Amino acid sequence: MGKGFFQVPTAVNEPIKTYAPGTPERDAVLKTYKEMYKSKMDVPLYIGNEEIRTGDTITMHPPHDHQHDLGIFHLAKKEHVDKAIKVALEARTKWADLAWEQRAAVFLKAAELIAGPYRSRINAATMIGQSKTIFQAEIDSACELIDFLRFNVEYMAQIYEEQPESSEGVWNRLEYRPLEGFVYAITPFNFTAIAGNLPASAALMGNTVVWKPSDSQVYSAQVIMEVFQEAGVPPGVINMVMGDPVMITDTILAHPDFAGIHFTGSTSVFKGLWSKIGNNIDKYKTYPRIVGETGGKDFILAHPTAKAKQVATAISRGAFEFQGQKCSAASRAYIPQSLWEEVKKYVIEDVESFKMGSPEDMQNFITAVIHEGSFDKLAGYIDQAKKDADTEIIAGGNYDKSKGYFIEPTVIVTTNPKYETMCTELFGPVITIYVYEDIKWEETLKLVDETGIYALTGAILATDRYAAAQATRALENAAGNFYINDKPTGAVVGQQPFGGARASGTNDKAGSKLNLLRWISPRLIKETFVTPTDYRYPFMGK
Ligand code: NAD
Repeated sequence: MGKGFFQVPTAVNEPIKTYAPGTPERDAVLKTYKEMYKSKMDVPLYIGNEEIRTGDTITMHPPHDHQHDLGIFHLAKKEHVDKAIKVALEARTKWADLAWEQRAAVFLKAAELIAGPYRSRINAATMIGQSKTIFQAEIDSACELIDFLRFNVEYMAQIYEEQPESSEGVWNRLEYRPLEGFVYAITPFNFTAIAGNLPASAALMGNTVVWKPSDSQVYSAQVIMEVFQEAGVPPGVINMVMGDPVMITDTILAHPDFAGIHFTGSTSVFKGLWSKIGNNIDKYKTYPRIVGETGGKDFILAHPTAKAKQVATAISRGAFEFQGQKCSAASRAYIPQSLWEEVKKYVIEDVESFKMGSPEDMQNFITAVIHEGSFDKLAGYIDQAKKDADTEIIAGGNYDKSKGYFIEPTVIVTTNPKYETMCTELFGPVITIYVYEDIKWEETLKLVDETGIYALTGAILATDRYAAAQATRALENAAGNFYINDKPTGAVVGQQPFGGARASGTNDKAGSKLNLLRWISPRLIKETFVTPTDYRYPFMGK
């Protein structure tokens, strides 16, 4: 137990390295990239202190070079999932009883390992396995993961500090217990930082975790496990299993000690998880915490007073960085007629200047989409838009999967504001633009708010303050992260806590105190110093 009121180091955002030509970080990451690319990984299940290789494996390939073999990862059978749960439950008491500063030290060490000795390796793994450019890898797998780990320690300390009032003769104390049971973390392919944070944030608060990464992110998930091990996360605290998501999930959600789910991924998967948890509710010892950050159909809305070049840049960066595979990526835009010709010119210029190819060539701004399923789906939407009468493709529109899953950044313009690609999350480098008549600004606000089921991110660009204020109010429920005169991507931990509402998630804001509160179950302890010995109250006197 703590023998002092320790102050945690003040969390600061990890500075983003430039990787400009001639910098040592550029040489280091390229060297690591080359070494990793040549060698093959053999990623086991991590259960307790065991690395289990089941022999039932999947081969990993870089999305930008799908014939290249990166090695294998092993798939769990039901017995391995049962074992991971058992081990997590066995590890729980010791981990939950460990003084908080010891838990904090483990994850602060993980942050420093990523900032230093593991930086090149985790960035190179993210470049290779998820096809991120070095800049996209750096802001994700290095900086954002470091920030999550550092800031969460600070938020944990703030939570523990919050204590109730005490009255005369009484001492009230709040104890922030971990959940009773184990936590299940399911993570998406698109952010290495999210993959690390979902198990780590629950573990930091004293929980033990079974973590299932996405098949398309196992390559960098392996590096996360290396970091956790070197940082001293004890065996059984974070157990990593890969395999059939339905089998793993059904096994876990049927367990009476399942205490919470920390999910990021698509909306339909999350809704399925919620239903399963609901159907199993009588099996559980406690009401499970359900935290899910899911899909989006994120918007850019330009007011007639916006500056065309700024609008175009918000579109080019907001829609196409990491091939539009950010949950926050802009995928629908509303541009006033009066600005359209100018915005169109700049957007086309930008898109035509993008270089596309392997992330190893650092001049490339665009690389491949994550896998063939995603490629085929995106190609299908593009083909449909080529045929439909109410759409026109003004940039991009080509695709090629002969070497990697390359989709050209594509701009669709539609005359139908409810056209399918204005409403459905495609999760790729495709944005659809609707040009509105300037006088229909107010109707357009309503349209933005009422199109689709999501409410994740959105941006308004305007120089007229009244218009910005009006949009901020009218779109209050249309986005959990709302940007004024900026692109809708690039949230920074500790500055812009991230999450959406409506079908976009439970809005528990990863990288904030709000999220950590979901992984604890407070116990109030009231201690009375002079205990009453007579049941009668004064009012009962004669
Ligand atoms: P996905 O839903 O396909 O997969 C996410 C995870 O769920 C993976 O680990 C996958 O294996 C698992 N999964 C798939 N089917 C399952 C099932 N039936 N039962 C249990 N688990 C299952 O998502 P993805 O393609 O990896 O990621 C992209 C999605 O994630 C997009 O919709 C994006 O908007 C969303 N996302 C949201 C946020 C956010 O903060 N809101 C952040 C990142 C990604």
